[in-house]
Amino acid sequence: MNKLSEKQDPTFGERFVVPLVIIFVTAPFLGFPAAMYWYGEPKNYWRATPFLTILVGMVFGLALLHHRVLRRYRCPQCGRRLPQYSGESDPEKAREYRFLCEACNVLWTTGLKSGAD
Ligand SMILES: [Zn+2]
Repeated sequence: MNKLSEKQDPTFGERFVVPLVIIFVTAPFLGFPAAMYWYGEPKNYWRATPFLTILVGMVFGLALLHHRVLRRYRCPQCGRRLPQYSGESDPEKAREYRFLCEACNVLWTTGLKSGAD
């Protein structure tokens, strides 16, 4: 029986960080003109619609990303769906998103901590 090894998920960056950066770069690009439109003339409530749509879209995008990557985490090696690892007694380490693959005998670490995302 091999000893459980702890590895950094090599695909986590492209699966989570890249889309996250895209959202944070795209949102102001779209949001800024939409905000200008909102403050333009004539004043009415409808002018807020594009900005609020982008805002809702951004929140929705973040929630979807979070759900897909963290709630439906797959082993980078064998592709199995893994539950979040909860066997950690150290509270500082337990805050990090980690996933145990029993088939590969690997504890995948993401470097991402809950509460910080
Ligand atoms: Zn695996």
